[in-house]
Amino acid sequence: MPKPSDFFECKKCGECCKGYGGAFVSDREIERISRHLGIDPERFLADYCDWSGKRPIIKTAESGCCIFWNKVCTIHEVKPRMCKIWPFIESILVDRSNWAIIKSMCPGIHDNGNMDDLAECVRMVLAEYDTAIKDTCPLPVSVSGEKEE
Ligand code: SF4
Ligand code: SF4
Repeated sequence: MPKPSDFFECKKCGECCKGYGGAFVSDREIERISRHLGIDPERFLADYCDWSGKRPIIKTAESGCCIFWNKVCTIHEVKPRMCKIWPFIESILVDRSNWAIIKSMCPGIHDNGNMDDLAECVRMVLAEYDTAIKDTCPLPVSVSGEKEE
């Protein structure tokens, strides 16, 4: 059975934390990160997020890196889903050529070339994440007053 470590081991280089990227935060994540920082969600949104359309996204610092990058991810335990599952993201299942793009950005990838195994690992990582988050984090009330899925 394939395992994610057949494809990837993080080198902790921080390359994926550079630039204005995809660190969107859901209501559940806003609540979790705010609690971790000891602030309320409104303050987290105001001080640590920008808006990309209607969706909050973690700010980029003047250095060009994510505001939470300081040689390591300073919110590692509660970082957003995209950061947790990376590089095993859904878009690989939609179009396998996306793996080549990810691979060109991430030195932690050591590809064994089997795309079916890779797809299985993506599904495994996504399922594990979704189970873990549901077990460890209750559904919050969103900033719009509704509950998330
Ligand atoms: S770019 Fe890849 S190896 Fe570097 S920190 Fe990000 S996930 Fe890890
Ligand atoms: S939250 Fe952490 S892992 Fe995600 S982009 Fe910011 S520093 Fe990187």
